[in-house]
Amino acid sequence: MNISAIQKSALDLLLAMGRESHPREFAALLTAESGVISDINLIPGSIGGEASAQVPFEMVPLNLHVTGSAHSHPNGTLFPSDADIRFFAVSGSRHIIVGYPYGPDDWRCFSPEGRPVRLEVVP
Ligand SMILES: [Zn+2]
Repeated sequence: MNISAIQKSALDLLLAMGRESHPREFAALLTAESGVISDINLIPGSIGGEASAQVPFEMVPLNLHVTGSAHSHPNGTLFPSDADIRFFAVSGSRHIIVGYPYGPDDWRCFSPEGRPVRLEVVP
């Protein structure tokens, strides 16, 4: 499925999760409907350190179709680390990073290879 957009409510929730977790990092999995990212699945035990996002995949329900991932960078950098790219490779096609201070523009979307991908925000 080609993922081209995210619902504004889902993006707002990711930014709020970044604020609430700060200065720690959160990680979540994303699911989509009709090509639009619409749901966020916070995986139990996924709150990690500052270095990289770690999702415990044994906690992921087997029926969850994973579109991608989202995690926060409390240091504010909006590009993936090497560890992030290794994680992206096994967790779907679209990967969102939200960064401090978690404002409306403090996020980016990446391909599994770590290249920036345009993602439209829809109501
Ligand atoms: Zn990261």
